[in-house]
Amino acid sequence: PDPDRYAVMGDPIDHSLSPRIHTLFAEQTGQALTYEAIQVDQGGLAQALGNFGASGGRGANITVPLKERAYALADELSDRARLAGAVNTLTLADGRLIADNTDGAGLVADLTENLGWPLAGASILLVGAGGAARGVIAPLLEAGPARLLVVNRTPDRARELADHFRHLGLVEGGGLAAAQGPFDIIINATAASLAAEVPDLPAEAIGEQTRVYDMMYGAEPTAFLGWAAARGAAELADGLGMLVGQAAESFRIWRGVRPDAAAVLATLRQELISGG
Ligand code: NDP
Repeated sequence: PDPDRYAVMGDPIDHSLSPRIHTLFAEQTGQALTYEAIQVDQGGLAQALGNFGASGGRGANITVPLKERAYALADELSDRARLAGAVNTLTLADGRLIADNTDGAGLVADLTENLGWPLAGASILLVGAGGAARGVIAPLLEAGPARLLVVNRTPDRARELADHFRHLGLVEGGGLAAAQGPFDIIINATAASLAAEVPDLPAEAIGEQTRVYDMMYGAEPTAFLGWAAARGAAELADGLGMLVGQAAESFRIWRGVRPDAAAVLATLRQELISGG
């Protein structure tokens, strides 16, 4: 039989690392599958999924800017997708769309398994209140932090997020200036690093014990990590491990096998640095 087909859909999609990651998972676990990148614009997702399912597609990852659209199209939502209000993983089953969101699990797996940063009892600052922040709050709260503060350039968005998730645990929201630390862990979930900008956080957010994570990643350290290093942060990490972590959880949902994410992360890091 032909290998099962999977894809990532989004816009832009040319530079997506997902095809490489899933190809490495498939090799590692001996699974026969193909994984491609499909450019899909806002408004084109339902048709793209229909076409893909009709031609043997079994599952799709959904990325910017289609995660909310995928949520709206889903026939069945996992609890974590419903809480996040966004979907990054679809399983195509007999014309039905079974939806999940693995972004938060990917972040928590990277923090705890790859990096060894304890979350239980930690004071955590989450910067940003967009889709990425929204997707990680429930899994972070599940890990049992002493405190989770969400801050954002537009403070009301952070307050609304905190209100939305308060039934799950201790979470507060506010403006950037409310980030009076020092925190044990700071997670940047803003898009500021894309423009080489750094959110205007108080210097006191960082102490000498503070570990700093930026969801963005690249061959060079991000602007946020550069800022944190200059303020004496204890440890730094970018979001490549989160990307591999969410992919590993999607792969497990589709194939019932958990790949070795750390090994694939190491390969990908090498390739990113060498420009391959
Ligand atoms: P959104 O557009 O939904 O949200 C953008 C957020 O960034 C808002 O909180 C916005 O604040 C804030 N922001 C943007 N520019 C600035 C700035 N100059 N200073 C301060 N705050 C700023 O984006 P997403 O939430 O979808 O994505 C955020 C980032 O996370 C992206 O860089 C993305 O690449 C990354 N990401 C990484 C993943 C991974 O696997 N590693 C997974 C998902 C996302 P305001 O509300 O005031 O506009």
